[in-house]
Amino acid sequence: MTDIIYRYKDQVYFNITNQCPCRCTFCIRSHGNAVGDAQNLWLKQEPSLKEIKEAIDAYDFGECKEVIFCGYGEPTMALENLIAISRYVKERYPFRIRLNTNGLSDLIHKRSTAKEICEAVDCVSISLNMPDAESYTEIVRPVYGEVSFDAMLKFAVDCKKYLEDVRFTVVDVIGEEKVRESQKLAQRLGIPLRVRVYSK
Ligand code: SF4
Repeated sequence: MTDIIYRYKDQVYFNITNQCPCRCTFCIRSHGNAVGDAQNLWLKQEPSLKEIKEAIDAYDFGECKEVIFCGYGEPTMALENLIAISRYVKERYPFRIRLNTNGLSDLIHKRSTAKEICEAVDCVSISLNMPDAESYTEIVRPVYGEVSFDAMLKFAVDCKKYLEDVRFTVVDVIGEEKVRESQKLAQRLGIPLRVRVYSK
């Protein structure tokens, strides 16, 4: 069995794709087949819009207040479904919708994508990961190489034009100095930074 929807702590997550243009050294996908209450986040095949809608219709959201696009892949790889599903959820539920992303959507789709994404969701959380292109490329290992860092920053700044709730995240394992540098960079760009505690 594979999971399109799963719960982790108090939040509900949409796992709509396994595709990703990165190979982050810390990627949770390398630590097992699932997180939270999911059985298996490796999808047998990329789910269609119809399959995702059916999974939503069948799911008991309980006390959920926020749903998050985040799974064993980069959600913007399935951009059309992400936007369609956000609309589908907004029409039916009172949930906030958050996108957790590597911020490389513009490189993936070879065009600016911030506006359409920000019109669809309520919050965009972007993995900053590192405060400079060299160390970012070293740990994120994106197929696009070093241009990825600037593209990710531009995407974040673009999102901020359309949406109030845009955030960066780093994981504390990068060390205090890199966290400090990340804080400075985030501040310069006017985007709040959340430092996450690393957990496998
Ligand atoms: S961007 Fe996310 S899904 Fe892709 S390799 Fe990095 S941590 Fe894993």
